[in-house]
Amino acid sequence: MKLSEAILLGDSLRTRTNGCYLNTRTSPPCGCALGGAQLAMGRTEDMAFHELWPWLQDISPDGVSWRAEVGCDNERGFEAVMGGSISIDQLADYVRSIEPSCGECNRFDCTCTTEHKQVESTEAIHA
Ligand SMILES: [Zn+2]
Repeated sequence: MKLSEAILLGDSLRTRTNGCYLNTRTSPPCGCALGGAQLAMGRTEDMAFHELWPWLQDISPDGVSWRAEVGCDNERGFEAVMGGSISIDQLADYVRSIEPSCGECNRFDCTCTTEHKQVESTEAIHA
């Protein structure tokens, strides 16, 4: 699953808080967009989002990790949601505009040879 979809799915699974990714010691858990997203995938370990969406560790054109761009400590990321300047849907739109097209491996350098690519090429032939 892509991060943009998981952010929306996970938003109701935790209380929105800034400054941490995911805190499961509270009930319900609290955290930022990335914490909610990994909860949507059933993952509660610290930083599990790195495993689920490896592209978050890649470096953005601003010279920081994509995690830093999207996560709890960036004014264009979740901090903007907490500040009320954008909605969680707008954050998901932003993530959709930057994330890898492959929702299987979630890597920019996708080398998947799995069915989704074959389906795409089949659709292209029939288009
Ligand atoms: Zn892939």
